[in-house]
Amino acid sequence: MIVVLEHNAKESDILSLKSFLKEKGFKVHEIVGQEETILGAVGIAHIDLREVEILPGVARVIPITKPFKLASREFKKEDTVVKVGPIKIGGQRIVVIAGPCAVESRKQIIETAKYVKEAGAVILRGGAFKPRTSPYSFQGLGEKGLKYLKDASEITGMPIISEIVSIEHLDMFKEYVDILQIGARNMQNFELLKKVGALGKPVLLKRGLAATINDLLMSAEYLLANGNDSVILCERGIKTFETYTRNTLDISAIPVVKKLSHLPIMVDPSHGTGIRNKVPPMALAAIAAGSDGLMVEVHPEPEKALSDGPQSLYPEQFEKLMRDIEALAPVLGKEVYKLSENRDDFRTVRIGESGFVKTGTGKLPRIGFQGERGAFSEKAIYSYFQEDVEPVAFLSFKNIFDAILKNNIDYGVIPIENSLAGSIHENYDLLLRYPDIRIVGEKKIRIMHSLIGLPNAETGDIKKVFSHPQGLAQCGKYLESHNEWELVPYYDTAGAVAFIAREGRKENAAIAGRQAAAVYKMKVLKEGIETNPQNYTRFFIITREGRENIKNPDKSSFVVSTLDRPGSLYLTLKILAAHRLNMKKLESRPFPGKPWEYMFYIDVELPDNPAVFNKAIDEIKKNTDYFRILGRYKS
Ligand code: PEP
Ligand code: MN
Repeated sequence: MIVVLEHNAKESDILSLKSFLKEKGFKVHEIVGQEETILGAVGIAHIDLREVEILPGVARVIPITKPFKLASREFKKEDTVVKVGPIKIGGQRIVVIAGPCAVESRKQIIETAKYVKEAGAVILRGGAFKPRTSPYSFQGLGEKGLKYLKDASEITGMPIISEIVSIEHLDMFKEYVDILQIGARNMQNFELLKKVGALGKPVLLKRGLAATINDLLMSAEYLLANGNDSVILCERGIKTFETYTRNTLDISAIPVVKKLSHLPIMVDPSHGTGIRNKVPPMALAAIAAGSDGLMVEVHPEPEKALSDGPQSLYPEQFEKLMRDIEALAPVLGKEVYKLSENRDDFRTVRIGESGFVKTGTGKLPRIGFQGERGAFSEKAIYSYFQEDVEPVAFLSFKNIFDAILKNNIDYGVIPIENSLAGSIHENYDLLLRYPDIRIVGEKKIRIMHSLIGLPNAETGDIKKVFSHPQGLAQCGKYLESHNEWELVPYYDTAGAVAFIAREGRKENAAIAGRQAAAVYKMKVLKEGIETNPQNYTRFFIITREGRENIKNPDKSSFVVSTLDRPGSLYLTLKILAAHRLNMKKLESRPFPGKPWEYMFYIDVELPDNPAVFNKAIDEIKKNTDYFRILGRYKS
């Protein structure tokens, strides 16, 4: 059962409530949420819920109807995010685990680790104890295999996952691996589950060959009930009457699990299909269906692999798959998790664990954005910064620039251009007015609008819709089909959600991103109502001069005014062309104080040799009254 506590429940009441439940034979888990604190009481005991309801401090008691309790959404509404070192599985980022089916030699695992890391995998897999169908097949290198995996981990910095097949190996696994894998064949080895659960390390639990989703969640319950809350589920295909593929990958398990459980779920398309060229399409399908990540078998020479060669990707196939995932992720509003060493920008300044330049106070880096909590700019912060950060809301863009200069925040995230509505001129002008601010990064995110109402509202209740005029305009087609609704312009999309939440009237709805519904505990009545789904906004990440430290930038933005004579802009562009510099954007803005003269903002791709760009800008400077680099950054 779920016991929801009263907001002002006394500490002493909570204590006696807990001991009451424990005396009755329940295990009690306390979950402190943003809105309310709950006690989850799970056990074999039976009790009349009214006995609990009448106790002091109790707001209400809700029975958990599912056979799996701790794994259920009823028990915990928010998604569980499993942390493996700095890597978070189950959040906004797609985590890719890759490596060979089995560790075959030290050289093989280290070589594989290096190139899967290079291609973008963040966790290394490799079996040391292989549960093979035939006793005559390669059984794995045992402890030696785990040692080699650990060596590969030390060399590459990647955490490692390996399958445990026996209780006898618990100490060994505790020492060597970061995530323990329970294989399909052991999904219902309940003694193993109990012991692995009690170990307290993250566990990846694979779906059994003939297990239902219910069976999988019941097995997860064993891990959770034994004190482990770092459980990742893994769909890896089930036996069906189809024989073309080794197993039938049950893609529908992903949305089903997401609805039933708060636990993250990954997909293993390698065992799911058993055929190499079927792995990439199923991997992409899994991501599209909402999988939190993938586990993919990759081998340097699959034809020589000691196990699962036919389903192992060649390195170049894996590289191509990673690029495709990178392209797909933003469409789904997600990002691909990257090891920070791969990101050669200021985040690799490894001061402190987070990889950030530490703030003066030693607290989380503070990132400014304009708007209310739940704004797309806040979403852009989480898309760009994969470490923990503290978003700070500002009323205006100018406030962000000022706060950076006053050292009140470390970075700012500002929108600069929308693929449908065009440039955000105010921010171009601010970049010019604040010469001590530098662009250190950029991020494009997809803008998906939702119709958001009160938790108890239905579409039929709506009379008024609040949103930023851009939000209303971008959903014109959908709104036309409801011309009975009054459209009310509001200063901000997320602000409109905050407003309807405060008003508490079922007839009010707002248009904003679904993240705003989550912040204000409102209901998404309809998702994806924007007329054009190709709606992206590009953001700049800015900081003060002197804090930028970007290794291998590949893009630069600069601003020039051209002299008032024929061919002046042409001359600037000609210099870029002569140096074979690819221009990505050209924007003009009026020159402050000089009517009908213009500043040109130019974005270019940086060449491999920085001297080429430097030479070009030296030439451009000779041709202009005003020139300034706004930043060099990674696109
Ligand atoms: C594996 O991942 O190497 C493995 C044996 O997988 P499964 O348990 O899903 O067959
Ligand atoms: Mn395998």
